[in-house]
Order: sequence, then C-alpha cells, then structure tokens
Amino acid sequence: EAKLKLFGVQDDLKLSLNAIQVLRERYLLKDQEGNPVETPRQMMERVANAIAQIDASYGEDPEVSYQEFLKTLMALDFLPNSPTLMNAGCPGGQLAACFVLPVEDSLDAIFEALKNMALIHKSGGGTGFSFSRLRPRGDRVSSTGGRASGPVSFMRIFDTATDVVKQGGKRRGANMGILRFNHPDILEFIQAKKKGGEFENFNFSVAITDQEMEAVRKNEKIPLINPRDGRVWREVSATEIFNVICESAWSSGEPGCIFIDEINRKHPLKALGAIEATNPCGEVPLLPFESCNLGSINLAHMVTEGKIDYAKLGETVRVAVHFLDNVIDANYHPLPETERMAKANRKIGLGVMGFADLLVKIGVPYYSQQALKIAEEIMQYIMLQARKTSLELASRRGTFPNLEKSTWYTQNLPLRNATLTSIAPTGSISIIAGCSSGIEPYFALSFRRYVLENTELIEVNPLLEEYLKGLKLSQKDWERILAQGTLQGIEQIPQKVKDLFRTALEIPPEFQVKVQAAFQKYVDNAVSKTINLPQNASLEEVKKVFFLAHETHCKGITVFRQGSRSRQAIYPGLLS
Ligand code: ADP
Repeated sequence: EAKLKLFGVQDDLKLSLNAIQVLRERYLLKDQEGNPVETPRQMMERVANAIAQIDASYGEDPEVSYQEFLKTLMALDFLPNSPTLMNAGCPGGQLAACFVLPVEDSLDAIFEALKNMALIHKSGGGTGFSFSRLRPRGDRVSSTGGRASGPVSFMRIFDTATDVVKQGGKRRGANMGILRFNHPDILEFIQAKKKGGEFENFNFSVAITDQEMEAVRKNEKIPLINPRDGRVWREVSATEIFNVICESAWSSGEPGCIFIDEINRKHPLKALGAIEATNPCGEVPLLPFESCNLGSINLAHMVTEGKIDYAKLGETVRVAVHFLDNVIDANYHPLPETERMAKANRKIGLGVMGFADLLVKIGVPYYSQQALKIAEEIMQYIMLQARKTSLELASRRGTFPNLEKSTWYTQNLPLRNATLTSIAPTGSISIIAGCSSGIEPYFALSFRRYVLENTELIEVNPLLEEYLKGLKLSQKDWERILAQGTLQGIEQIPQKVKDLFRTALEIPPEFQVKVQAAFQKYVDNAVSKTINLPQNASLEEVKKVFFLAHETHCKGITVFRQGSRSRQAIYPGLLS
C-alpha cells in the first residue's frame, strides 16, 4: 500500500505492482503536471463506456453492453490492444495497433508514406511497409540522370523520423520493414541491422515465396529482379542468400521471414490485391492502408477446478468480438484512406494471452503432445465462436461492405468482419493482466524486464509459489531458483513440477514452432511468436526452425538466441 501511494495510484482493481507502474506511466489519463486523473477502474469505465456507446448507432442498448464490457475488462478476462486502453473516450482517440502503408517507387510517394507513418505513430499505431517496389541501389533515376540509393537508405529516413515522433511520450513507434527475397538489394537489407546502432525502430523480415524456399532446398540459382522494370538484375544462389538470413538471425535475431505465399493463399480479400506486408510484430498481414484492432483473452482465467471452462471462454469470445467490432466505429483515424479501408473490411484480431498459465493450471506441461492438442482445441473453439458472433452481428448490423469480394462470400458466410483472429505478442497488456504473454512458454520463472523508461520491473512467476509451498525448500534453494529463473538442479523438486514449469530455453525450438503452427491452423491473420534459442544453439538449428515453420504452414518466423543482442528487453533470473 505504501509503495502504491508512492506511485500516486489507487489500486481499485487489485492489480500487480508492475501492472500499476505500467498503467501509471503510460495508460492512465494525466493532468498538466503529469499526475494521473483516473484510477485503473475509472480507466476501464472510460473504455467500456466509449466502446459501448457505439451500440446506440445500431439501435441497440448501450447500457447492457457497457455492463458486459466493464465486467470483462475489470476481471482482466479480456483486454484490447494498448491504443484502445489509452485513447478510448478521448477526443480524436486512435484505437488500432496495426497499420500497413504502401511505398511506391517515386520520391513523392516515399515521402508521402513517411508523412503518413509520422501521423500514425503520433496517434499510437505501429506501421508495416514493404519496400520491395523501390528500385535498387545504383539503378537509374531518369529525371535527374543520377543513381538511386536503394530501399535500405530510404528506410533509414523512416527510422530516424520514428525516433523523432514519440507517441505522445507513451511509447516509441514500431515498424516492420519487408523486402522480397529476390530484390537486388536483399543482401544489404539482411545485414543492415547487424552492426547495431541503426534501425532500432524496425523489425526486418524477408518475404519469401514457396518457389524460393524450394530453390533454397535444391540449392538452385534464382534471378534477382529489378522491380522498376521487371528485368533480371543478376543471378544468385538461393541457398547462399538463405544462409546469410540464417546467420544474421543467429547472430542478431534479425531478419525474420514471412511466408508470403501462405499469407496470400489464406488471404480472404484476394480480389482487392495481393498482400505484401504485415504489421510490426507480424501477427497481422494487411493490404495497403488497412489497419487492425486487436484484443486478447486471458486464458489463465478460463480454468475452473483444473479444467478448461469452455462456457466461460465462449461467453468471453462473444463479448470480445462485439467489443472489437464496436472499436472499428469508435476509432478516429489519422488518415482518410485507413478509415475507408477499416470500415470496408472491418478486420479485427482476437487472440489469447496466458496460454502457459492455463497449461500449468490444468497440469499439462507446455512441452508435451497434449499441449499441442489443447492449443488446437482452444483456438478452434475461439475461431468458431468468433465466427458465430460475427454472423450474428452481421444479421443485425450488416456484413462488412467488401463481403462479396471476399472468399467468405463463396463459402456462404455473411460475416461482419473480414478477419476475426490474430495472436499478438501482448507485450504490455499481459503485464496489466498479470499473465504470461501471448502463447509463449514462460521466459523464466523470475526475470527482469526493461519496458519502461528508467524502470526495472522484477517479476516472479505467481503460480510457482503455490506449487512449491508443500516442499519445504531451504532458503538456499529458493535463492537459487530466483537467481537462475529455472528449477534446474534443485533436487528437492519432483520431475513433474519441473516439467510443468519448464522455461523457453528448456523447450526444443522445433517444438516451439509446432505450438505456433497449432495456433495458426485456426487463426485468420497470423501468430506472433518468438522461437527462443539457448546461447549455444547452432546455425543448423536456426535453419531447421525456418524450414519447419514453412513446412508446418506458419505465416512467418522469428528467432531469438539468448545473449545475441547487447541489450534485451527481458533477462532471465534476478542476478545479472
Ligand atoms: P500491447 O500489449 O501493447 O497491446 P502487443 O505487444 O500485443 O501490444 O503488440 C501488438 C501490436 O501493437 C504490434 O504488432 C504493433 O503493431 C503494435 N505495437 C506494439 N508496440 C508498439 C509501439 N511501441 N509503437 C507502435 N506500435 C506498437
């Protein structure tokens, strides 16, 4: 209590200390002096009210929805993405996390995209771009008779602009930069982040086709193509490029890959064009000027007496889909183009967090066949319930305007939303909810997190203590667990408990890919997952992970090898 008073926040929702700190720094509305003018509960009321009011415009009763939304939010059973929590109910509040902007091959278009990026960042959104249409470095510029400087040099301007435009002091902007595997500048792109100090506001991904993956497997040559004129620039070994990708991912965690053919095979709006890019963390492939608002169900709360509570889960999905559909109308867009697209396609991305917690609560180890089965079961259930709600909403409010241009139309599914599901990293909202993030295994059982400026957040797994209570551990054992962040080497602890609390680095990378694939099977958009590798993982291991992700129909893949960056957002254990 004394500590909370220090933060100047009344804890009327019984949140964790870290949750309070994160809310105080970034979410609660503040006065001119920077003091919070709302409590966490009042924040939830503000959000629930702003989103519920939309019902009135459809001739529905907002009071009923207000009560449902508020109850669900206050219980932390479901949370919308950060911009909705921060901005709902505020004048001009921008509520979506994810945008994709086109970058065409002209100076005019590049700087138009740059301006649009700045406006979206200022509003709290993240942006994804494909730079594949830009002519390569050294290519002709006819109007000036000079030489082009290539996509990577233009990306540098986007990176710098991102640094300058802070999101109202709440967070730095985030970007995804994508280049096709067969772009002439691909090698420069792959290695651009390697030396560090640059592009810190960007995630990099290479868009790779099935044919290119095949060429990699068969060790064939592929032509690099100049996007300006479609001509062959030169021929290269597909395997060599792939090896550079994997080496770079091994040494710095970047780039990731996106499997662009898989994305477009599952793309419901093919008639509007092919998808070239995703949002910053990869969980939402989008057309130019599309955006998506996300929300995540806290699976840790969907367990009753050691069993998955499907009745509660179904009800939570219904409320969440209704909520997210309303967000589309409550949103103020920074650009007319993004507003038009959002209202024409009405994409939402409902996902989950707290998957690792759920497994502990039902007594199933993350690293088990059973966990894969449960992942599919849960996500299939969520997908079907979400569709059911979207169909119901459509019958009252109408389908999304582009329905007839979508693959849903041919399947006779008159939906309200072109996409319904997506699995986000839930980097911040899982801290607020006090659960494990997204579908990730526990990173560690105790860890230090650096997500706020100048503040270290220390966390100890809240479920662990309960499991270890009866074991009469010595002070020394406890200290060791806290210091190392795992149960390894503590003899007192039965293997069953050790299995239940296995951390990311104790779970084979290939298995982590299988978890991603299991969720992807029932997700309309994509799945954000980091495949965590131990520091001593080999380059071959990284290659295996990339191939497996492609084979198992993942839409993208990101790896992170422990210790491969000088600064991490999160470190295992409480000692450095
Ligand atoms: P949160 O937990 O804050 O709701 P997530 O970690 O789930 O957010 O990220 C979801 C999406 O939100 C990302 O893919 C990205 O599009 C956007 N996003 C995340 N962090 C930022 C940021 N610092 N700036 C802009 N957009 C962001």
